[in-house]
Amino acid sequence: MRTVSLASLLFLLMSAGALPAASQDSPSPAQQALSATVASSDAPAAQSSAPAPASFNEVLDRVVQREHLFMAQMRHMHPLVETYLQDLKNDKDGNPFPVGDRYYLGRLEMEEGPEDVSFTGQPGFGHRMVSKLTGVYSLHYLPLGFASMVVMDSDFQKRYYNFTFVRREFLGEVRCLVIDVQPKPGQKVPHFMGRIWVEDQDYNIVRFNGSYFPQPKINFFFHFDSWRLNLRPGTWLPAYIYTEESNLKTGLTKSLHFKAQTRLWGYDLKALNKNEEFTQILVDSPQSIKDQSDAAADASPVVAERMWEKQAEDNAVERLTKVGLLAPPGDVDKILCTVVNNLLVTNNIDLQGDVRCRVLLTSPLESFTIGHTIVVSRGLLDVLPDEASLAMVLSHELGHVVLGHRLDTKLAFNDKMFFPDEDSFQRLDFRRNEADEAAADAKAIELLKNSPYKDKLGNAGLFLKELQEKAPDLPYLIRPHLGNSLFEGKNMRMASLVGSAPALDPKRLDQIAALPLGGRIKVDPWTDQVELSKAKAVPLTSAREKMPFEIAPFFPYLTHLSTGAADKVALTTPSPTTPPAPEQK
Ligand SMILES: [Zn+2]
Repeated sequence: MRTVSLASLLFLLMSAGALPAASQDSPSPAQQALSATVASSDAPAAQSSAPAPASFNEVLDRVVQREHLFMAQMRHMHPLVETYLQDLKNDKDGNPFPVGDRYYLGRLEMEEGPEDVSFTGQPGFGHRMVSKLTGVYSLHYLPLGFASMVVMDSDFQKRYYNFTFVRREFLGEVRCLVIDVQPKPGQKVPHFMGRIWVEDQDYNIVRFNGSYFPQPKINFFFHFDSWRLNLRPGTWLPAYIYTEESNLKTGLTKSLHFKAQTRLWGYDLKALNKNEEFTQILVDSPQSIKDQSDAAADASPVVAERMWEKQAEDNAVERLTKVGLLAPPGDVDKILCTVVNNLLVTNNIDLQGDVRCRVLLTSPLESFTIGHTIVVSRGLLDVLPDEASLAMVLSHELGHVVLGHRLDTKLAFNDKMFFPDEDSFQRLDFRRNEADEAAADAKAIELLKNSPYKDKLGNAGLFLKELQEKAPDLPYLIRPHLGNSLFEGKNMRMASLVGSAPALDPKRLDQIAALPLGGRIKVDPWTDQVELSKAKAVPLTSAREKMPFEIAPFFPYLTHLSTGAADKVALTTPSPTTPPAPEQK
């Protein structure tokens, strides 16, 4: 066996092309919802060639119709929604830097207006909203306020607005009509004010950017830039929302200065289709039955203990995947496993049973082990500057595995898995005690010393230094959901690497200690599959662009989902004979 460099793997991934969509023979609940929506709406049967609208007015009719269809679909969708917010302050040169943060994770429920079920247990959420557009964006950063920015206007009607065509423009490969939208004067209820981008095949809104008007007296509407992706044929669903305020006056003295990212995913959480599983067992059975009969012996105590631990591990991993917190197995896991393998091979360690790697889909920086499964969060993968620092993270977790630190095997009992999704973080806890943490650190240093990364650990130490500096201001970024914090009290993980790192120099453009969030891992909001972002690193023009651990606006490259015949969902443009919405009240 030999070690493989990450660079060659990256290349392999790129040339292999896009990840194939998970094959779905039986419709998932979300897909059924899509079809049900269409069946129950007044939309006529699928038409592959609706005539192009003849006028701007007809275009607007189509946009309004599509938006109503979108609202009907969203009522059946239950994606996870995560908002991470950084409070900002300007330095003496006028450049903003984070001085605080907030975090929220929940599931969006829109059956009767946006509602959410909190995973992180904050009080005051989960109550039913009376009206989406009043009192939502309160000064307390109600996360629901961020979640409800998935909806431009729950009652979108032509008669409320003045529309101005601006130009045609490509967002990625999607040709769009750019339209400015302003509420007509004299409206009492707040309406969207800003710009919309409408793709010119089916006239779906794919991006809207602005705020609501008029502003209410007590609360404030934030400015936002909301993006939808073409996740199913003919269906564009909310995926990213960027929010920013630089000087929002909220009283005589206070003003708000922040930026926030909201991400949505987990649209198609298959409720582990029992029929599908049964079919798989039938397919596998002839071989496995034969295998078992060859070695028809009961498990020895040692093997039984291993099987028991594996069962607990599998239960936990499966549950976290089902909830939408773990990405399904994929190519990013293979990259992580390659680094793990590099560490194992060069240390002559032969672990009974493979070590597996998986990606936790959330932003806070964390890594932990579930038995022999190493889990690293999307946020942590995003900010790690290089392969050696990734090896540092993985070596600590591998330390737990090599040292045989146990997983609580109560999870091997299946009834322990019967709990509501929102209790996941309370019921599944993979925290280690201080002694185990110290032992894993020591083991990790030993593993790294023999590895191909031994001469490249300066950057890993630099990453830790940057973390040490920024962590006190960003407590939510380092607050783990399921494992131990990278930086707890005075204890920093792998602290012994800090000493050998060069001095941290924020002004040096060629010293990248930590990357911004969101730059490396791309999540498919429908399947939860993760892949490496194809965005190329660009040379920085100023130190301000280093943005370690910071969030940035979203600019996804929009594409049309290619419509396979089997995938066709009856969601095409309604017939132009449908009466247009009335122009005036
Ligand atoms: Zn640990």
